[in-house]
Amino acid sequence: MAASAPPSLAVIGGGLTGLTAAWRLHRAGCRVTLYERTPRPGGAIVTHAEDGWLAEGGPNSLQLVPEVAGLIAELGLGPRQVAAGAAAKKRFIVRRGRLVPVPLSPAGLLTSPLFSPGARLRVLLELLHRPRVRTTDTSLAAFVGAHFGQEIVDYGLNPFVSGVYAGDPAKLSARYAFPNLWQLERRHGSLLRGLRAQAAERRSRGEAAGVHPIVSFDRGLEVLPQALASALPDGAVQAGVTVTNLIPGRPWKVITTRGGEVATSAFDALVLALPAGALAQLIFGTLGERSLASLDHLPMPPVASLFLGFRRDQVAHPLDGFGALVPAREQRSLLGMLFSSTLFPGRAPADHVALTVFAGGMRQPETGRLAADALAARVLPDLRELLGVRGDPVYSRHTFWPRAIPQYNLGHERFLEPLARLEAQHPGLFIGGNTRDGISLPDCVRSGAELARKAAAYAGRA
Ligand SMILES: Cc1cc2nc3c(=O)[nH]c(=O)nc-3n(C[C@H](O)[C@H](O)[C@H](O)COP(=O)(O)OP(=O)(O)OC[C@H]3O[C@@H](n4cnc5c(N)ncnc54)[C@H](O)[C@@H]3O)c2cc1C
Repeated sequence: MAASAPPSLAVIGGGLTGLTAAWRLHRAGCRVTLYERTPRPGGAIVTHAEDGWLAEGGPNSLQLVPEVAGLIAELGLGPRQVAAGAAAKKRFIVRRGRLVPVPLSPAGLLTSPLFSPGARLRVLLELLHRPRVRTTDTSLAAFVGAHFGQEIVDYGLNPFVSGVYAGDPAKLSARYAFPNLWQLERRHGSLLRGLRAQAAERRSRGEAAGVHPIVSFDRGLEVLPQALASALPDGAVQAGVTVTNLIPGRPWKVITTRGGEVATSAFDALVLALPAGALAQLIFGTLGERSLASLDHLPMPPVASLFLGFRRDQVAHPLDGFGALVPAREQRSLLGMLFSSTLFPGRAPADHVALTVFAGGMRQPETGRLAADALAARVLPDLRELLGVRGDPVYSRHTFWPRAIPQYNLGHERFLEPLARLEAQHPGLFIGGNTRDGISLPDCVRSGAELARKAAAYAGRA
């Protein structure tokens, strides 16, 4: 008997979520076509190499969770992976205009000048919290405040949330933005005891108990999407092609445009791996309906990434760490900065250092929108004060993200419901990515794999 033809699937969106989904579908024996609007797959992952500088415009590092490690191994990228330098274990938070190391152990916490004696005592008392099942969501600031007090919110949570979400802890939802903490409170009461128990569980599964290592690649993060795109069969990646309409049915029809040329293709199932704004634009059916239009209201603040290169002798601070985060209360122009040339090798020419400064976010959207020169003029006085920077940068690269990171704010479910409704209405449609499944790169890898698993099962390739 002749083998049946492999099912044909379309993946829409060529960021890390879509590329991972396409790769997994290909491995599951499906015929896959990935549509990417821009000429370059990778989405938010963009690396620029120039004159000995290696600058990330979007994400800078990746946590090596088991799913990411597995993907790197499958693609044969092990030899190209670079781990964060030992110095990068140290992280700083700005307090009263100084860079103060973040305590890394309970003993360190008890003596750290980052927090007052009262705040440290509150941290110890948190161990006594009893399990609590909340019936309604609450803001992250209120959630963490109830466990650790206001000072930890201001000088621990606030800068951390700026570093991860470019977000506002008073608006972010505890349940959606940090689902792990939400569950830990239910199970353990104390978040500290919960985290300790989780580390023990990981150890018992044979995984490293500490935090997952932070990695990148010899030529930057873009190595990963490039490798995924090249591992797909010839012609599978349709770059420079925008998907405009999806017509449900058996088969689904996908309408695309490339330089004004319109085409229609048929598929057994579809995976959507698009940011909220792009989902909102998609037209479903033949009546011109934008079924996900409400996703345009999902808050996604602007963020600017400013990669700055200096001669080593221009910066007094040893840059002996991962970087520094800035609490809102410090009233500075930046959300935080990475010490990029300490973090990974090969980011700056010899005798030079590189910093990546982030500005904007929910805290200061107008600063994020400044043009490159104006932004540099705004942040340099802070860099001079905080790091002892002298003179002007010898290299700079500015990347602007008008809608950078989706905010899982209170009420986020109103953006998730239309996605679930559309999937239920239209069999063969699978929607994922950072609107729904988490914003970090490991979340995107997991989301892509899960989308592929469900789509392959639907198409009969479980
Ligand atoms: C400045 C910044 C710093 C970050 N730092 C980190 C970090 O250090 N570590 C970390 O883990 N995460 C970080 N993140 C988060 C992480 O980078 C993103 O959440 C992740 O890359 C999103 O991947 P994605 O594939 O879901 O979406 P995207 O990368 O947005 O990809 C979606 C793709 O869809 C394409 N597209 C849009 N519309 C259409 C259409 N109609 N037809 C076809 N294609 C279309 C787009 O061109 C895009 O390529 C950062 C994000 C930003 C913006």
